[in-house]
Amino acid sequence: MDKKSLQIYEFAVEEGTKCGGCNWETSRMYVLADSKEEAEKCLARGEVLCGACMAEMLAEEGYRVYHPSDQE
Ligand SMILES: [Zn+2]
Repeated sequence: MDKKSLQIYEFAVEEGTKCGGCNWETSRMYVLADSKEEAEKCLARGEVLCGACMAEMLAEEGYRVYHPSDQE
């Protein structure tokens, strides 16, 4: 994936919608997509993640995710 064009789209979803990744109930879902149109297609297919899963996915992409308990 080209990190320069990496974009995250946030969708407000119905309160209590379960994330397909972790089954966590959330009202905001996120998806990595190149365009709003593509993001909406992912949403329609349920290929969206909660914030925690998105952070985990970004970590897999090579991003360092810092947690509040981490030492500086
Ligand atoms: Zn999740």
